[in-house]
Amino acid sequence: MEFDIYSNWIEIDLEAIRHNIKELQYITKQPVMAVVKANAYGHGLIEVSQAAEAAGATWCGVARLEEAVVLRHAGIRCRILVLGFTPPRRIMEALEEDISLTIYDPEVAHAYAALAQESKTRLRVHVKFDTGMGRLGMYPEEGVEFLQWLYAQPGLELEGIFTHLARADEPDEPTTDQQIDRFQRLIEGLRAYGLRPPWVHAANSAAALYFPKARYGLVRPGIAVYGLHPSEKATLPLRFHPALSWKTRLISVKTLPQGHGVSYGHRYYTSQSERIGVIAAGYADGLRRISNNFALIHAKRVPIVGTVCMDQCMLQLDEVPEAAVGDEVVLIGKQDDVSITAEEVAKLWGTINYEVVCGLAKRLPRIYLNK
Ligand SMILES: *Cc1c(COP(=O)(O)O)cnc(C)c1O
Repeated sequence: MEFDIYSNWIEIDLEAIRHNIKELQYITKQPVMAVVKANAYGHGLIEVSQAAEAAGATWCGVARLEEAVVLRHAGIRCRILVLGFTPPRRIMEALEEDISLTIYDPEVAHAYAALAQESKTRLRVHVKFDTGMGRLGMYPEEGVEFLQWLYAQPGLELEGIFTHLARADEPDEPTTDQQIDRFQRLIEGLRAYGLRPPWVHAANSAAALYFPKARYGLVRPGIAVYGLHPSEKATLPLRFHPALSWKTRLISVKTLPQGHGVSYGHRYYTSQSERIGVIAAGYADGLRRISNNFALIHAKRVPIVGTVCMDQCMLQLDEVPEAAVGDEVVLIGKQDDVSITAEEVAKLWGTINYEVVCGLAKRLPRIYLNK
């Protein structure tokens, strides 16, 4: 096996990615923009985007222009939207690579318009509206005037409008319906002036699943593509499959005598003679430097003891006498019928599953299954 050569790696099941994309299409009955920013939430930008495209995703959404350029250079043909900021001086790259940009600031828009005028092709843009997120976006009240200005720009092509929802992962909160109402009124207001942007989109994963009204003509899921739950309150249907496993190996086993300190600061002492293993996973791989981590070995849950180091940490192996150097250890994923989910790790770390997977280090080899 390819991964016999690594001591710490990530496995990504591309069949799970394709399956989840198809589920999203089936459930929402809308085209899907696979959100693949941040190295596809740690899963690998190019391979995930290829799988998403193969499964029928019509768009890829990224945060930065450089991510979009990587996708074009890798041969991704679907539409690509940069959801965040693009410096005006880089719009020629967007034009050359046929990448759509987000506009939310009139001054930046004027700079794009002036620069794009000199180009033969028109720069495709999506205007982002702030319907309540309090982040990027123009106010809906500015919509008609701004879009009229935009339509008059020879260098710009209005390809879409969108908004982003602040609390779609809390389906009981009224905020999302209020945001959708504001967006809906904007759409109707624009229509009254004959302004009909081809693509209208609002739904992240949670909204795509829990707020059908927010689906419009395109959904924009990220976390669900990876088979991870948007939140505890907005869980995925059972048919979704997590794509990622994080694995490492036992690289040393010793029996330490009673009262022996373990790792930096000796924050753990053996209370008797104990079997202590070392695994090749540390905080530089994305493992949080906290005291109550755990791992799977021989399909048993075992505690990680002592301070997590940069490249290693220690397992308490008294319950696993058969453990031997070279054994596979799972940090996220399954061994037989035992599993550790990204959600469980997130809870332990006081964060969300998004941060756990985005924090998996670049140095970890990504191994793609079912390519
Ligand atoms: C990240 C992001 C998404 C995807 O959100 P998920 O919660 O991962 O589905 C959608 N739209 C925008 C604008 C985003 O920034």
